[in-house]
Amino acid sequence: MTDKISNEQKYKYQEPAPVHKGEPNPFESMMARFDKAAEILNLEQGVYEYLQKPVKQVIVSIPIQMDNGEIKVFEGYRVIHDNILGPSKGGIRYSPDVTLDEVKALASWMTWKCAIANIPFGGAKGAVKCDPSKLSKVELEKITRRYTANLFSVFGPDTDIPAPDMNTNEQTMAWIMDTYSMHAQRTETAVVTGKPLIIGGSLGRVEATGRGVMITTLEALKKLGLSPEDVTVVVQGFGNVGSISAKLLKEQGCKIIGISDISGGYCNSNGIDIDSAIEYVKNNKTLEGGNFGEPVTNEELLELECDVLAPCAKEDQILEDNARNIKAKLIVEGANGPTSADADDILRDKGIMVIPDILANAGGVTVSYFEWVQNRLGYYWDIDDVNRRHDRMMREAFDNVYDTASRYKTTMRLGAYIYAIDKVSRTLLLRGIYG
Ligand code: NAD
Repeated sequence: MTDKISNEQKYKYQEPAPVHKGEPNPFESMMARFDKAAEILNLEQGVYEYLQKPVKQVIVSIPIQMDNGEIKVFEGYRVIHDNILGPSKGGIRYSPDVTLDEVKALASWMTWKCAIANIPFGGAKGAVKCDPSKLSKVELEKITRRYTANLFSVFGPDTDIPAPDMNTNEQTMAWIMDTYSMHAQRTETAVVTGKPLIIGGSLGRVEATGRGVMITTLEALKKLGLSPEDVTVVVQGFGNVGSISAKLLKEQGCKIIGISDISGGYCNSNGIDIDSAIEYVKNNKTLEGGNFGEPVTNEELLELECDVLAPCAKEDQILEDNARNIKAKLIVEGANGPTSADADDILRDKGIMVIPDILANAGGVTVSYFEWVQNRLGYYWDIDDVNRRHDRMMREAFDNVYDTASRYKTTMRLGAYIYAIDKVSRTLLLRGIYG
């Protein structure tokens, strides 16, 4: 490579711009890690700039007739960060304050996650600026269909494949699939993932992210010389990712001694009955009022004496302020962005191993990839096939990141970024720059 950069200042991620209100910003944290990895790889300046900027950004106008007869115009975005490893992949969120910058940041995040998971996809993200809580089902369907129609030339099984994200779900994906298919004049299930099972969804998708958390935890425990039967686990967040991670880790013999959700947490040194807690949340929406152990706050929960801590709720939970008090030997990031960049250094100095989000929660996008594969094959796997392939790919992803971190003598987090950036940049140079 020529034109190498030695000046650290040059590796300063300019785009996507900051996206979250308040401090710290998980996307800025991610970009800070990207810059560190670029520095270690001594990435060529041109390649660095290429990987900074999305290849395509589309803004569409979405006029619809509301239930009261009024015409309202919404704004929609689709950003393709890159398509170096293959067609781009990423969710669509509906949110009243989403911005193009936020979508750009999330699209680049998808690039690194797909690269680590060894999925032949680039990264993308989409959004519609709207408040779904103020829209009827009919209005949401109209928005989804018009958004899809406007992006007909962008979406496609070989070009760009959306998925659910914040405030979108299986039904939204079914509308996207149908609208795209109407325009294409054929049923095209592989244009979107996260569909209902009955129209081409994959078995195992609902459990996939929690399953990935379980598999990567077991791999890390092996490296730490611990066996699942001897470890205690605390899980923050008891939604899709948290509850399934807790259930599967318990099935592997771990003792789950702490759980929490937005209503607060519980600690029980005898172990918590996770199946009962899942049943309780099904009936009561949250853990509030349950009898699972000693009540603790979410702040206290993170600092409990335990072997494994799995933050599976939301971003910005382990920060400079509380990182010093964390007692776990291993942190497994089921959530996206739960740890700030400042906290990384503290955790490293304390000798705590962190399985970073872009590895720990990549089980979800892995099974989305399987959904796309099955749609294209027109042949559907049973749950054992899905889980076996998922587990193998997650173990491989873990090993790749672990080996990279060992080779460069870095944390697992930096190892993950180095692995992803190296893979994408080498592929880019092999393909060459057209033009
Ligand atoms: P979810 O909405 O099903 O569950 C979120 C859980 O976190 C709920 O139990 C909620 O009560 C709890 N929570 C919210 N705020 C909290 C707080 N301040 N303290 C403690 N608990 C709190 O969401 P999910 O799908 O489980 O996603 C959780 C995280 O995992 C998010 O960061 C998401 O981006 C990430 N993630 C999810 C998937 C997936 O497939 N669902 C894939 C990759 C990453």
